[in-house]
Amino acid sequence: MERYWNKEMECATLSEMKALQSFRLSQTVRRVYENVPVYRERMDAAGVKPEDIKSVDDLYKLPFTVKQDLRDTYPYGLFAVPMDKVVRLHASSGTTGKQIVVGYTEKDLDTWAECCARALTAAGATKNDFMHVSYGYGLFTGGLGLHGGAEKVGMTVIPVSTGNTARQINILRDFGSTYICCTPSYALFIAETMEEMGISKDEIKLKAGLFGAEPWTEEMRQEIEEKLGCKAMDIYGLTEIIGPGVAFECSEQSGMHINEDNFIVETIDPDTGEVLPEGSQGEIVFTCITKEAFPLIRYRTRDIGILTREKCSCGRTLIKMKKPAGRSDDMLIIRGVNVFPSQIESVLLSLGNTAPYYKLIVDRVNNTDMLEIQVELSQEMFSDTIKSLEEEEKRIKNAIDSTLGISAKITLVEPKSIERVEGKAVRVIDKRKLH
Ligand code: ADP
Ligand code: ZN
Repeated sequence: MERYWNKEMECATLSEMKALQSFRLSQTVRRVYENVPVYRERMDAAGVKPEDIKSVDDLYKLPFTVKQDLRDTYPYGLFAVPMDKVVRLHASSGTTGKQIVVGYTEKDLDTWAECCARALTAAGATKNDFMHVSYGYGLFTGGLGLHGGAEKVGMTVIPVSTGNTARQINILRDFGSTYICCTPSYALFIAETMEEMGISKDEIKLKAGLFGAEPWTEEMRQEIEEKLGCKAMDIYGLTEIIGPGVAFECSEQSGMHINEDNFIVETIDPDTGEVLPEGSQGEIVFTCITKEAFPLIRYRTRDIGILTREKCSCGRTLIKMKKPAGRSDDMLIIRGVNVFPSQIESVLLSLGNTAPYYKLIVDRVNNTDMLEIQVELSQEMFSDTIKSLEEEEKRIKNAIDSTLGISAKITLVEPKSIERVEGKAVRVIDKRKLH
């Protein structure tokens, strides 16, 4: 039986949801117009008044917000409440440039915990479960975000944070953790370290993990599920909007439900800004309609995704987003062909003979883009003959070529030679940017 944290919101009819969104949107727009000079100036310049925004159908009239706006108003220029109402600050890890700061009121923290509680409940968690949080605590939103959600559910929270993987595994085993959250790359590293320590998956009690903060593939999901002996659920979010919990996976494991009573979602053509119909791939744009301290309006995430309102077997009616392949910034253009690192991951893992660790090195030699894929051999393959390794390289090369239409140099590297991470994996080295 499917359980919901908040059935009223998670299973609302489309007309109920639209009515609620419309009401909250008009209130939010009025509030930011009055309290945030940047929004007022933008809306004035676009000739839009708060009273022009009566329903979600008017959303398109509002100007977009982009990451640069957050940098230009750094640190508090987009806050919509006085600082005495702000009880927490977080900052993005700054993987793509100067860091940005966001704020939360007490109510915002509650909204965030609610979003994460829905995700945990969808993954089957109850107050009887133990939640091992291996996302980093601190300015990064991962740790404290899921921490709040797990406490709301009433789970026994184990705030381990990142680091010391061997200790993490002892805690997992000794404390009897039934749920875990971290990046999918760290989940794999935990599994690998468990093997090294001679601890089998039967010695731990994990039922499910909530993995996110970076793109990952179905193939990676299978690896994690098999190695940790638990369900691997996807969870999505970004600091600018609230943190993890903007969207979450349900038992169907085919895309993530967006908490759209809090965040209105649209997809747009990244070049023209035109709103796209449901089902077409585009840039994901969010508007926060319940946040007090930091309500972004039509924020362009640069994440590329597809939205659908197709009926979901879990009974939730919240709009779904297909697993995002990555950010438009992560997309590589190799000799004119667009590829996401996750597409390469998918090909590599589906072939089976390599370990799920790889690095992509892009360079420009004689005005031609070159892609080198370094991929780790599995222990079994490592002891094979040179001839069979050459054949393996060829097999990968052909698969990449025929699936993605790009030719790449394949370099098989020794097991464990590619660095392991505790947070987000860095898989691309684009040397073209250095020239
Ligand atoms: P930073 O911007 O510094 O990396 P964030 O933690 O705010 O810090 O990163 C949010 C981004 O992480 C999202 O915009 C998205 O690109 C990526 N992300 C988060 N969760 C997922 C997920 N489940 N699948 C794919 N990408 C994700
Ligand atoms: Zn569902």
